[in-house]
Amino acid sequence: MEQLVDRFGRVINYVRISITDRCNFRCIYCMPKNGINWKPMENLLTYEDIAFFLKVAAKLGISKVKLTGGEPLARKYLDNLIKLINNIDGINEISLTTNGTMLPVYAEDLKKAGLSRITVSLDTLSNKNFRKITRVGNIEDIIKGLDAIDKAGFEKTKINTVVMRQINDNEIIDLVNFAHKRGYDIRFIELMPTELIPNWRKHFIGINEIKNIIKEKFDMEETDKKTNGPSVYYKLKSGYVGFITPLSKAFCAACNRIRLSSEGEIIACLGHNIRINLKDAIRKRDEQEVERLIKYAVKIKPKEHSMLSESIHSTMSAIGG
Ligand code: SAM
Ligand code: SF4
Repeated sequence: MEQLVDRFGRVINYVRISITDRCNFRCIYCMPKNGINWKPMENLLTYEDIAFFLKVAAKLGISKVKLTGGEPLARKYLDNLIKLINNIDGINEISLTTNGTMLPVYAEDLKKAGLSRITVSLDTLSNKNFRKITRVGNIEDIIKGLDAIDKAGFEKTKINTVVMRQINDNEIIDLVNFAHKRGYDIRFIELMPTELIPNWRKHFIGINEIKNIIKEKFDMEETDKKTNGPSVYYKLKSGYVGFITPLSKAFCAACNRIRLSSEGEIIACLGHNIRINLKDAIRKRDEQEVERLIKYAVKIKPKEHSMLSESIHSTMSAIGG
C-alpha cells in the first residue's frame, strides 16, 4: 500500500470532506447572520464523485474519512454516501461531524449504513446562550439528537466545544460533566480567526487557560490517547477531555489531513487559501489525474498555518472546520 508523505515527513491518511455548504444554523464564528449564497447543487460533487475520489485516495493511503459541512445532514440521503464509502477497500473509518439537529431522523439509518462514529458540536448548555451562538437553534433539539445517537447504538461519541471568552467560558465544567455523564469524550477547541469575527481576540481563550479552569475542579492525567488528529487528551476520573489548539504550531506538526471542499477542491491546509481543483478530473473519472493532483496537494502542503497573519478567507462552513 502506498503512503502519502509530505515534505515534512507527515503521513497523510485522513481526509475531511465538506459535502455541502448549507446549514440550518448561523453560528457566530462560522456563518454570516444572513447566511451565504449557497452553491448551486450542480456545482457540488455528487455522492458518486466523492466515492470515486475516495477510491483513488484510498489506494494512495487515505484510510479515514470525516464527513462535514456546512451541516452534512442537510444533504439528503447521506446514508447512501456512507454505503458507497463503506464498499471502498482501504477506508476503515467513516465519521461525521454534525450540529446534531437532524439526528433524531437519521441516526438509525446512518448506523445501518456503516457510519463508525459521530461528533456533535455543542458550545453551551444554556438555551439563551445556544441561541446567541447559533442565532437560530434550540438546545432541546441537540439533546434529542444525542439521545438518538445513543439509541442507535453509536459508541465513542464526542462533543466538540469552541470556547469563547465572555460567551461560554463559564460553562466549561458543566460541559465536561454533561459529556462524561453521557459517556462521551469532550474536546475544547480554540476559536479560529475568520473574516466573520474581526474582534476574535476579545473572545479568544488559549487552551492553557481552559486547562487551568478544568484542573481547579478535576485531577487531570496526561495520556497518549490518540484519535484521528492533533488533539491532545487528558484522563479525568469521569472520562477524557481533549484539546485542539489550532493556533499553536505544534498542532501543525501533528497534522495528518487534507480537506476536500463540496465543489471538489483540495485544501491542503485549513489556515491557507491554496486550493487545488479536482472537480473536472473527478467528473471525467480520470484516475491518473486525480492521483496526480492528490499527490501534488500533499507535496505543496505548507509546514504550518498562517492564521494569525491572514484570516481564513472563506467561512468555516465552506471549508468544513
Ligand atoms: N455543522 C457541523 C458542526 O457544526 O459540527 C459540521 C461543520 S462545522 C464547520 C465543523 C466544526 O468547525 C464545528 O465543531 C465548529 O464548531 C467548528 N468551527 C467553525 N468555525 C470555527 C471557528 N471560527 N473556530 C473554531 N472552530 C470553528
Ligand atoms: Fe453550521 Fe456547523 Fe457552521 Fe454552526 S459550525 S453554522 S452548525 S456549519
